[in-house]
Formats: sequence, structure tokens, C-alpha cells
Amino acid sequence: MTSQAIRKAFLEFFETRGHHVVPSAPMVLKNDPTLMFSNAGMNQFKDLFLGNKKSEYSRIADTQKCLRVTGKHNDLEEVGHDTYHHTMFEMLGNWSFGDYFKEDAISWGWEFLTGKLGLEADRMYVTVFEGDEKDGLERDSEAAECWKKHLPEARILDGCKKDNFWEMGDTGPCGPCSEIHIDLRNDPDRRAIDGADLVNKDHPQVIEIWNLVFIQFNRKSDGSLESLPEKHVDTGMGFERLCMAMQGKQSNYDTDLFQPLIKALGEKTGTDYGENEAADIAMRVVSDHLRAIAFSIADGQLPSNNKAGYVIRRILRRAVRYGYTYLSRKEAFIHELVPVLIEIMGGTFPELDAQKELITKVIREEEQAFLATLETGISLLDQLSEKAEAAEQTLLSGKDAFTLYDTFGFPLDLTELILAEKGMSVDREAFEKEMEAQKNRSRKDAERESGDWIVLEEDDKEEFVGYDWLETEVRITRYREITRKKKTYYQLVLNLTPFYAESGGQIGDKGVLENDREQIEIIDTVKENELILHLSTELPKDPTASFQARVDQHRRLCTANNHTATHLMHHALREVLGSHVEQKGSLVEPGYLRFDFSHFQKMSAGEIRKVEHRVNEMIRLNSKLDERRSVPMHEARNMGAVALFGEKYGDTVRVIRFGDSIELCGGTHAKSTGQIGSFRILKESSIAAGIRRIEAITGEAAEEYIDARLDTMAEINGLFEKQKDLVRAIRSTLEDNSRLSKAMEAIHRKMLAETAARLESDAEDYRGFRLNASIVKVENAGQLRDLAFQLKSKDPDLALILGAETEGKANLAILLPSFLHAEKGLNAAQMIREVAKSIQGGGGGQPFFATAGGKNPAGLEAAISAGRRAILEALGQAG
Ligand code: ATP
Ligand code: MG
Repeated sequence: MTSQAIRKAFLEFFETRGHHVVPSAPMVLKNDPTLMFSNAGMNQFKDLFLGNKKSEYSRIADTQKCLRVTGKHNDLEEVGHDTYHHTMFEMLGNWSFGDYFKEDAISWGWEFLTGKLGLEADRMYVTVFEGDEKDGLERDSEAAECWKKHLPEARILDGCKKDNFWEMGDTGPCGPCSEIHIDLRNDPDRRAIDGADLVNKDHPQVIEIWNLVFIQFNRKSDGSLESLPEKHVDTGMGFERLCMAMQGKQSNYDTDLFQPLIKALGEKTGTDYGENEAADIAMRVVSDHLRAIAFSIADGQLPSNNKAGYVIRRILRRAVRYGYTYLSRKEAFIHELVPVLIEIMGGTFPELDAQKELITKVIREEEQAFLATLETGISLLDQLSEKAEAAEQTLLSGKDAFTLYDTFGFPLDLTELILAEKGMSVDREAFEKEMEAQKNRSRKDAERESGDWIVLEEDDKEEFVGYDWLETEVRITRYREITRKKKTYYQLVLNLTPFYAESGGQIGDKGVLENDREQIEIIDTVKENELILHLSTELPKDPTASFQARVDQHRRLCTANNHTATHLMHHALREVLGSHVEQKGSLVEPGYLRFDFSHFQKMSAGEIRKVEHRVNEMIRLNSKLDERRSVPMHEARNMGAVALFGEKYGDTVRVIRFGDSIELCGGTHAKSTGQIGSFRILKESSIAAGIRRIEAITGEAAEEYIDARLDTMAEINGLFEKQKDLVRAIRSTLEDNSRLSKAMEAIHRKMLAETAARLESDAEDYRGFRLNASIVKVENAGQLRDLAFQLKSKDPDLALILGAETEGKANLAILLPSFLHAEKGLNAAQMIREVAKSIQGGGGGQPFFATAGGKNPAGLEAAISAGRRAILEALGQAG
């Protein structure tokens, strides 16, 4: 069976058992402060398990794109080295929200694998939760009883809390789980060792394929468990592993999901898979990581320097690095595999093909940039190891190894590999210490704690009324205390709210909650999953009272204007540059807006002007806001709405239309475009390969900006009074200025040459050297130095003690011929420190030449005579 057919069979199997099939949610998460990427099928249903939202369907099935490279689930280091952990993988899942429980989940799971797919029943083992004394939980005999109907007791194994008790986080929904394992070894091996002894023992052919989680408890922040009124089922099956079992393979990479990639890689690098272990690992790493990177770019997350973007960048660098070291690829090549990936997965995930060009370009540029870094890192490593060698050391310090790791993305094993070729190694212990220290630093940064919710009123929906109202009467339904960077805040949830929570690039509202007795300031509004959280620094004295919730109107109005302007600009950009322009991110604040979009070259000044004009034209047209809520997705598409990949799945959407601009959007907007007033682009720049950024302003901010420009113009006008053509006047002033500077320079050069000639001819003759100690006229300390060196090259026997006043400061220079410093042991640096006292200054230099500066030009004469005396006294030639 092909992978396509297996995926289809799963979804159909559960569809015929009453499940609603939904598309995968994006792999990159946008509204979850606790998680950057989907790491399990249940992520998109978190709110349903938490009870923040009611599900429209009580049974759902899907395949979910997952990425396990950070936090609780991090398989990155395994990937490539083993054959069944990926960074990005698909998790097939079926869900029950308060509907069926253990009995059906188990019997359907069994029926699907052994009945529908025909996998051999006697290769299967299952685990059940053995219980936990500390939590006061008994063995999950309910699940064990269900399993007994399908397989012998000897193959139903007890599992510990670590493997068989699932928790969403430190607090929240949790419950026991049952895993299904499959033994894919050959018959002699199976006879030699009982499969039951290899379950959960990291054996590459005895692996877990499906985890059935039974959510029946809620973990409170004091660690105790309470039973949930509604019980849920959450299952997750590794799709790649299932394909391996179905296709009779021993490795995920031998399935039709990976083979075309491995083959293409073999052709590109001239390496045969299966010949050499190190090269095999590298081929697995590259083909796995390509999927993770391509999917995340398609979801809108580009590689970058922080947060989720950095995670992606590191995955890509890991792939480049394996290619560089083990497949000897010194040029970018991973991006060339994008078409092969699209061939395999593009049918199920159309976002890949739709963004093929962007994905390819971004990967290529990242590869090239990192290859250059690799070269720099390797030459740095060469220098470091040469230094160590010179000092007869064979150990590279932990600090140096860490710098290579942290700044150049050199994993320890790469550093070790390169060093080993020179018979050197790394001080591993010190490296680990550095690593630990960094982890602690970032842990400190992220530290945040939240208390339990205090529920004042049961309420299953917190309605947002802020599209229509900026003020309304509300009650607090629940609140909790949170600590961030040692400060205490409160998160308040209301029964309904006019406050817009930060999302879709638009920042959250501020405002107040007030009644006769008190006023609480709301400093920010954010969304956590579906909950709207109002952030305050204090808690009302009576949280159960009613409040008037008031949004800061002016701030909201400016933000709405900017949001609408963003839509108009998006539309104008597509008109001016072409329909390849797609939104890649935005930030909408009261004072400013930022819009990132795909486009492959810098915009010309003419194009920027055109976009600006077009937006201002749409503003003057004063199109009314046409807002439609709850439009079915397909209808919105038919209306011509610009829909984005990477938006979270939802049955209905909100459509915002101003004239020809139609977008799916949850943000707040101007009532009509005229309200924006005017629009100005401040800057156009590049933020990543193929992604441009425009920063712009509207309304008041645009007015202030233009005022400031006009003020500057008026000031310039004032300076060039009576000049009709200002530009010509400025240009001719600049030209005059450059002509005059050149003339001045020539004069100075001539003066300097005259001074030099005079100093040379006026020098006093002594035995073995000549001496001139005098005050000269120069422009700056640099010229004094030049003068000394000019004379030195003309007359190597000349000693100079020169002083000069420049801009009210005193400068000194002492030059000694080799007769004085090498033969007679005089030292210019020591001398100058002594004589600079007269000018209230200090200086230094070398034995043959030194300079000093000071505050007191009146002391120059004294300093010079002191210098002269010092030379003559030292030689016994005083007088
Ligand atoms: P394992 O112990 O093999 O790492 P897990 O306990 O982390 O698995 P779950 O969190 O229960 O796995 O995820 C459900 C299913 O997803 C697993 O049964 C497995 O088939 C699959 N799976 C988990 N991690 C990966 C991965 N990194 N790559 C591919 N499939 C995976
Ligand atoms: Mg795991």
C-alpha cells in the first residue's frame, strides 16, 4: 500500500465511524505563548480539553504536521542516527470530546491495524498504566480489560508513569495512556528474544506506533488530581512508522515517503545509500530536515535570529553541516530537492507547491550564508589550534569550543572531528559547563509562573464585542495571578469584552475597568489559545462587582486606521508588483505599521511612489467598511478574498472589504477609508531571502512627519534667503566648499613643506646627531606626526622636539635618531611623559618616537626646553 493510500484509509476508517475529518492545523503556532510548533495532534484542540471552548463535533480525525525539536519533545539529536524519529512528521489521530472512551478507542484502534490494514496481530504488544502511589492512582485495569478481548494477556504489559501517563503540562488535563507497539524483526530474531522484552527499550524494530490517551483528570497547581466531568480520547499514531510496517521495511527512510529524496540525494552527491554508515546518517538527516524547513517556510515561519525562526535556522544548519562533512558538499544543494519533496507530499499539502519558489530561494540563501560561516569558523578553528599547538597543548579550551558552537553553529562533534585530524581534542567538561551556564541564562529569561484560575462564574464563552463597542458593562468570570521576571500581574477573563487581544499582527487594546468604587488599568490584552486575557497590575478589591470596561479610544482609532491602511497597501502592492506578493507578517500599532511580503527584488523609488499614490487614492475614494462575519471558508474564497496558507483551520471566517481589497481578517478597522487621512511609506528594506518589509505611517503620524519635513525645508530656505532655486544654491555651495577645501589643503601642504625645510636647515649640529627643538604651526596632531616622519626619512640623524598648539590644546612630539635611542639608551616615550607635565598632559609611544597632548599650550616652551636639556644633559653636552 502506498503512503497516500494508508493515510486515506485511516481518515476513511474513522469517518465511517462518525468522525468529522479536519485538515492539519499549521505546524507553526501563532497564538500560543507556551509552544512554538505543533508537537502532537492534540495541540489544536487544547481549548476543547481545557474547557475554554465547546467543540462543534464530538468526534474528529485528521493528520497533523508535527515538529519535535524543542522543549518537552525534542528528538533532534536522534534524527538521522536512528531510523524512526523525525523532526517533522505526521501524526494520525482520532478524538472523542466527551463522547466514546476506552472501549471504542481500543477496539477501533485494533480493528484498523489488524483488520483494515491487515497487520499481523501476533506482532503487536500493548501497554497500560501500572498506577502510581504518589498520585493515588491504581492500575488502568479498565483499559487492560478492553485489550484482553483482542490479544493474550502476555502481550499486555504494564508501563510506568513516564511512558503511560500523559500530561498536557505542569497543570491541566491529563490521564493514563495505552501504547501499541509493533515487532518488525525477522522470524529467527523473534524466536531468539521475546518481543515483550524489547518494548520501550529503544530497539529500532520494536517500536511504538500508536498512543491512545484517555483524558480523565485535571492536574491542579498544588499537584493534586481532580476527576473531569467530561472524559476525552486523544490518539496519535506516527504515520511514517505505520508506513514502514505496512510496506514491510525496517526503516522509515525505506518507505515511499523518503526513498525518492534519498535517491535524488544519492545522484547529487554521488553517494550510494547503504554503503557507509556516516554518509547514510547524513542522507537521512538532509532528507528529514528538508521536510521540516520546507513545511515551516510554507507555514510562514522563515529562518531568523530568534525564537521559532532560530529553531528553523538551526535545523537547516544541521543539514548543511552533515552534507558538508559527510557528503562532501561545499556548495548549496539542499534547495534542489524541493521539487522531489513536492512530488511526494504536495498532493496532501498544497501549501508546498503554492510556495515553491519562496521555499527554494530561502533555503538556497540560508545554505549559502551558512556555508560561508562554516568556512570562517573552520579558519578560526585553524588559528585556535595553531595557537594551542605553538603552546604545545593538545586541548582546545571549552570557551573556544563554545564560541564556535554558539556563534558559528559548530556542533561539538564537528569541532572534535576537525581537531582529531590534527591530533587534538576539546576540553569537554569545560564545554559542558559553558553550555549549562547558557541554558541557565535562558531558563531565567523565560521564567514565568502562573497560579490556578480562580473561577467566579462558570462561562463557556467569553464573547468579543469590540468590533461594535468600545465600552460595555462586564463581570470578571475568572482570574489568576502570574509572575514574570519577579513582577506580579493579574490575568482577568470577562464574561464579554470590548478589548481586542493581540493577534494577526495587531497589538492588544489598553484601557480601564471601572465602577463607583475603583478603577483598574488594563495594560495589555492578549489571547492564550481562545481565551482573551486582560492584563493588570492590581486586582479589584471586589472582583465579583460589575465594571464598565472602557477601551482607550484614541489608541484604538489610530490602530484601526493603520490596520486598514495595511490592507490597502497589500492590495496596491499586488497591483503594482504582481500577484506573487503575499503577506508574510505584519505589525499594526497606533503610531506605525509594518508589512512583510514576498517579492524578489528591491522596490524602485518609482514603485514605492506608485504604491503610496494608489493607497492615498483609495483613501480619498472613502470606501465604506464592508464587514461580513461567519462566512463559510469556501464562500470567502469565491468572493476573491486573499486567503493565506498557515492560517488556523476554522469553519467560518470574517471577511473585510474596502472597495477592491478583500481579505480574511480578525482585526479592527476604520469605518471608511477616508478616516485614515493620509499614508506615507517611511522605508522599504529586505528582511530575508525573497521577503521585503515596508514601514509606513498614517493620519496624525503622517501629518507630523510631513510637518517635520516642511520645517526642515523652511529652515534651509531661511539659510539661503533670496535664492530662488534652492537645490541649485545648495549644490553650488557644496561645490564651493569642496573647491575651497582642496585649495586650503594645497596651502597647508606647502606650509608644512616650508616648515620642514626650516626645521632641517635650522637644526643644531652635535657629535653624532642634529637637534631641532621648536614650536611649529600645524593644523592637528596628525600633521605634527607626519612632519616628524617626513624629516626622519630625509635626515636619519635628526632629533626633533616639536610643540604645536591646535584648537587651544597643546601637542608634543619627540623623535630620536638611532644614535640616541639605540646607542645612547635614551627613550622618547619616557622623555615625553616627563616633559608633558608642563603642558598638563600625558602621552607615550616607542623609544624612537612618542607623542603627547595636554591642556596647557602656555607650557609648550618650557616642555621643549626641558626636552632639549634632557638630551644634552644625558650626553654631557649641556650648554
Ligand atoms: P517515542 O518513545 O518513540 O519517542 P513518544 O512516546 O515520544 O514516542 P508520543 O508522544 O506518544 O510518542 O507520540 C505518538 C506517536 O507519534 C508515537 O507512537 C509515534 O508513532 C509517533 N512519533 C513520536 N515521535 C516521533 C518522531 N520524532 N518521529 C516520528 N514519529 C514519532
Ligand atoms: Mg518521544
